[in-house]
Amino acid sequence: MKKVLVLGAGQLARMMDLAGSPLNLDVKAFDVRTNQVVHPVAPIHVYGDLENGIKEADVITAEFEHVQHDTLAICEASGKLLPTSTAIKTGGDRRLEKALLEECGVANAKHKIIESKADFDQAIATLDLPIIFKSALEGYDGKGQWRLKDAAQADDIWADIEDFIAQSKSSVPQGVVAEQMVPFDREVSLVGVRGRDGQTAVYPLTENHHAGGILSVSVAVESRQELQAQAAEVFDKITNKLNYVGVLAIEFFQVGDQLLVNEIAPRVHNSGHWTQQGADTCQFENHLRAVCGLPLGSTAMVRPTAMVNILGEDSVPNEALALPSLAIHWYDKEKRAGRKMGHLNINGKDELELAQRLNQLANILDADAFPDLREFAANFLNKVSS
Ligand code: ATP
Ligand code: MG
Repeated sequence: MKKVLVLGAGQLARMMDLAGSPLNLDVKAFDVRTNQVVHPVAPIHVYGDLENGIKEADVITAEFEHVQHDTLAICEASGKLLPTSTAIKTGGDRRLEKALLEECGVANAKHKIIESKADFDQAIATLDLPIIFKSALEGYDGKGQWRLKDAAQADDIWADIEDFIAQSKSSVPQGVVAEQMVPFDREVSLVGVRGRDGQTAVYPLTENHHAGGILSVSVAVESRQELQAQAAEVFDKITNKLNYVGVLAIEFFQVGDQLLVNEIAPRVHNSGHWTQQGADTCQFENHLRAVCGLPLGSTAMVRPTAMVNILGEDSVPNEALALPSLAIHWYDKEKRAGRKMGHLNINGKDELELAQRLNQLANILDADAFPDLREFAANFLNKVSS
């Protein structure tokens, strides 16, 4: 039985464990808030500290990119960490991420790294409005972002950014990246996996919708082949450059037929949760297979699938569970406004059946708790039916 230690003890480590059990993999999670190694599904079980966790593990991996750098260094020194600390840190720092994208020669939004007021002024002078400013570190779910639509807002935004940088408790200096806003047609992401031997496999692109800066729905249907190939090429360039092992996600803006990289996540990703019901092998199992040196599982889509995030709610009507193909995944978290509490996966034998079922689901779920879902589902059905 291979033993895997995951840095981070949230829902992603939990779902890795649930996917790893049938393979006889022993998954444990390092909770960075308590500095204890715990059972990912039943964290009441504590197994000791990090040092002990590292000693016990065959492989160490991560469920999030904002791991303290000294923790990464200790894990890497053991020779067991996959992907590498460089890959994890790159995903956790937009400055390194932009540098990587440039090195790989992959298309992304026009941007500038801001370290001073002079950089800030220059960004406004050289980028077209609107501009989005994003914190270099610790950004997630749209947090640490400012949008400048009108030059008159510049002073206020700079004051905010200065404050934000001054308040950072990070051991790495905080900074900001300015990006030109991309007038995208839609947002898509690619989740893929690279094995220890360099072999890669990618899932079909998913289309992602956000509500209030947080992912609300991901839909996986077959994409046009050129688009899928374009995304797969970017995946290969990035993962080869990082000598990456494991699952990695790439978020894109689609403008016409072109994909621009928004950001990468060196881990399993929320937009890949649909694979639990919609693909031959789910992303969690494939991540474990990769880091454990097992053959990668097929990433083929079995059925078109939609994933709906449950944000800030700890129950859904039982009627929803009665829908055919519906699967619910709770994370066993305490209820908090806007928090990712769980998700729903639903699928159909074809896009039409999926769209019909998603509409049924949207009409059962509370419209306030799932803003825009009814409208999204209705539009999806319209598009598929026409
Ligand atoms: P998450 O953790 O949910 O991925 P995040 O905090 O890391 O979010 P981004 O993905 O960079 O932040 O941005 C959040 C959302 O803001 C994007 O999904 C997109 O809708 C919008 N956005 C970000 N950058 C741009 C841009 N350059 N042009 C247009 N929209 C953007
Ligand atoms: Mg994002």
